[in-house]
Amino acid sequence: MKIRKNIIIKGIVQGVGFRPFIHKLVKNYNLSGWVLNSNQGVEIEVEGKEEELNNFISDIKKKLPPLARIEKIEVNQLPLIGYKEFSIKKSIVKEEDSFVLVSPDISICEDCLQELFDPHNRRFRYPFINCTNCGPRFTIIKDIPYDRGKTTMSVFEMCPQCQSEYDNLEDRRYHAQPNACPDCGPQIFLYQNKRKLEAIDPIKKAVELLKEGKIGAIKGLGGFHLACDATDHKAVSRLRLLKNREAKPFAIMSFNLEKVKQYCEFGKKEEEWLTNRARPIVLLKKKEDSLISSLVAPKNNYLGVMLPYTPLHYLLLKDNFRALIMTSGNITDQPIIGDNQEALEKLDRIADFFLLYNRDIFNRCDDSVLKIINNDNVFFRRSRGYVPHPIILDLKLKEVLALGGELKNTISFSKENYVFLSQYLGDLKSVETLNFLKKSMVSLKKMFRANPEIIACDLHPDYLSTQYAEEIKVKKGLKAVKVQHHHAHIVSCMAENNVKEKVIGVAYDGTGYGDDGNIWGGEFLLCDFKKYSRIGHLKYYALPGGDKAVAQPWRMAYSYLYSIYGKNAQDLKIDFNQRLDYNKLSIIEKMIDKNINSPLTSSCGRLFDAVSSLIGIRDEISYEGQAAMELESFCASGVKERYKFSIYKEGEEFIIDPQEIFMDIIEDLKKGIDKKVMAAKFHNTVAEFTVNLCCKIRKRTNLNKVTLSGGVFQNRYLIEKIISLLEKDDFQVYIQRKVPPNDGGISLGQAVVAGYEG
Ligand SMILES: [Zn+2]
Ligand SMILES: [Zn+2]
Repeated sequence: MKIRKNIIIKGIVQGVGFRPFIHKLVKNYNLSGWVLNSNQGVEIEVEGKEEELNNFISDIKKKLPPLARIEKIEVNQLPLIGYKEFSIKKSIVKEEDSFVLVSPDISICEDCLQELFDPHNRRFRYPFINCTNCGPRFTIIKDIPYDRGKTTMSVFEMCPQCQSEYDNLEDRRYHAQPNACPDCGPQIFLYQNKRKLEAIDPIKKAVELLKEGKIGAIKGLGGFHLACDATDHKAVSRLRLLKNREAKPFAIMSFNLEKVKQYCEFGKKEEEWLTNRARPIVLLKKKEDSLISSLVAPKNNYLGVMLPYTPLHYLLLKDNFRALIMTSGNITDQPIIGDNQEALEKLDRIADFFLLYNRDIFNRCDDSVLKIINNDNVFFRRSRGYVPHPIILDLKLKEVLALGGELKNTISFSKENYVFLSQYLGDLKSVETLNFLKKSMVSLKKMFRANPEIIACDLHPDYLSTQYAEEIKVKKGLKAVKVQHHHAHIVSCMAENNVKEKVIGVAYDGTGYGDDGNIWGGEFLLCDFKKYSRIGHLKYYALPGGDKAVAQPWRMAYSYLYSIYGKNAQDLKIDFNQRLDYNKLSIIEKMIDKNINSPLTSSCGRLFDAVSSLIGIRDEISYEGQAAMELESFCASGVKERYKFSIYKEGEEFIIDPQEIFMDIIEDLKKGIDKKVMAAKFHNTVAEFTVNLCCKIRKRTNLNKVTLSGGVFQNRYLIEKIISLLEKDDFQVYIQRKVPPNDGGISLGQAVVAGYEG
C-alpha cells in the first residue's frame, strides 16, 4: 500500500545542490512527488511504499551533498494524491521574516581543481572556477534567498554554455550561483606603479614579482592578503617594516601538506583541520632550521599555516614557493580591506603590486585561526569558512543583538535556537573598525531577518561597543542588558557545550571590567545563564599606568615586587633590576604609593606578563598577549616542579595570592635556573592553584562542572595541564571549541545572558 509523506528539511540546504541530489536519489526508488526550496529550507513530498519511503529518508541523511548540513527533518503523513512522476518545483519564499541558513565560503573542490589544471578544459587556469560543491558563498551574498541576483555575481551575465550547465539538473553546476567561465565571468588583472599592466598573464607576472622579493596585495575570498615569499628574509623584513608590525606572527600558505612537512611538525588532527574544506589557519609546531624566515613568527614555536582555498591560490602556488606569507591586507588597527579602490589607496605604501579582480566582496571575512589543544581544535579566530553558520543551542532565546567587547570583537544575533556570530571584526578601537561592525550588523540582520528586542553589551563604559549600544538603544527603543565580561565568557562556554545548570566558571584573561569597578581577569564565578557570583579571584595588585602597564609588562612585574618587598625591591640582586632604569622603577613606586593611575587588577594575563618580564623574556610588547605567548613558548617539557602559592579567605571569597610564586622565582633567578624550567614551573603552579581552588569550591557548593574560558586558555601547556588535573579529580570539564575562548566569543555569552528566559 502506498502512502504520502511531506518532509521538511532545515539546515544549510539551499545553494548546495540539494534539490538535484534529491531528484537523483529518488531514482533509486519507486517514488513520485516533488521537491522545492521554501522559506523553511527544502520541502519534499513523496508517495510510495512505506519501506521505500523510510529508506529514502535515511539515505538523505547518509548521502548528503558535501556542503549541505541538516539541522532538522520534519516528516508528516498525508492522504494520497496520486503523483505520477517526480519533479523539481519552483521555489516558494513568502513570509518577509522567514530565513534560511547560509553556507560559509568553502575551498575549491577536487573536481574543480582537476578542471583548473586540465589544458583541455574550457576553464583551464581560470581563477574563478567553482561549482555547487565549492566556492564563495557568505562573502558574496547580499540577501536571501541565495540567488545569483542577490549576490555580487549579479553583474555577470552567464554565457550560453554556463547557462546550460546552470539549468542542467545532471550538471555539477546546476544552480551554482557563482558559476562563471573566462568568457562571461570575473577577470583578474595586475596593477603596478598605479597602472594596469596590459598584455601579460597577471598570475604569472605576480609569481615572477613575488620571486623577485616583491610584496603583493592579492585579493582573496574575504579580503586582501599581503603576500611575499616566506623564505625571503629581506622581503619579510621589509613587509614588517612597511606594515609597521614588529613581531606579531604572519600566517603562511603552502601548496600542499608535503611542503608544510618541510618546515612544521604535525599530527593527524592538525592534518584533518588543515585539509578541512573551511581551510582555517592551523598553528603548527615549527621545525628547527627550516628555510622559512625566522621573521615570520619571531620567538614563537608555532607557525600559522593554511593550505590554498581559492583557484587563484592554487595557480600562484603550484610548482612555486615553499610558502607565501598571506597576512590580512589592512593597515594598523583597521579592518581587512575588501574593495579594489580602497586597497589601491591604502596599501599603496606597502605593496609593490596589486593582483585584483572585478567581482566585489560584499561581506569581508578574515581567515580563521585555530590550534589543536587536548587533541581537538580551539579557535583563536572563528571567521571565514565558519561564518555565518550558527551556534546551535537546545533552547530558544529572545531575539538579541550582542555587540561584544573590544578586542578581537565579534557581534551576535540570536534567533530561535540559533546564535549567529559575525565574522572577526578586529580590535574595536578605531572608527574604521566600528564602521565594519555596523556594516556587518546590517548585513547579518538582513540575512537572518533578525529583529532584536534586546541589545546586549559589556559593562565597560569606555568600550566603543558599549557606547554604540547606548546609541542604538535610544534610537530603536530597545531594552539594554549589560553583561559582566567574565560572566559572558563563562556563559559562552556553557552555551556552546549546552550546559544549562550552575557551574564553576574559571575565567582567565587580560582585562574585563568588574562589577566593583576594578579590572578583573583571574576569576572564579558560580554561574548560570542569568546570574553569577564571584566566589574567588587572584589577589588584587596595582596596575601602574593602566593601559601603559599592559603594553609594558615590566611595570606589572615591578608592581608585584614592590608590593612584596617594599623599598627593598630595587636592591634585589636580579637581572631585572639591572636591566631597568632606577628612575623608571622609582616612578612606579610613587604611582603606587600615591595611587596615581594605578587601578587594581586581578588579571591572570597580567600575572603571566609580570613573570615573563621578571625572568627576562619580554619587558615590552608590540601585540596583545605577546609576553604570555613567549613565556608559553619557553616552557621546557617534562618539568614537574612548581612554585608555592597561597589561597586564603576574605569574607566569602577565596583569594589566590601569587606572592610566594614571585619569592620562589627570585630565588631561582639568583640560582641561575634555566628560564625554560622557570617558565614551566610557573605554568605548573597556575594549573595547580586553579585545580586547588576548584576543589575548595566543590567542597562548599557541591558543583562538579567546571567551564574554562578567557584568552589565557589559548595557552596549550596550561589548559592541557589543568584539564588533566581536573579530570583526575573527577571534575567534568568544559572548554570552548566552537567559538574562541578569547574575547571573540564574548558576544555569544552576552546574547545568551540577555536572551535567556528559562
Ligand atoms: Zn567545485
Ligand atoms: Zn561562461
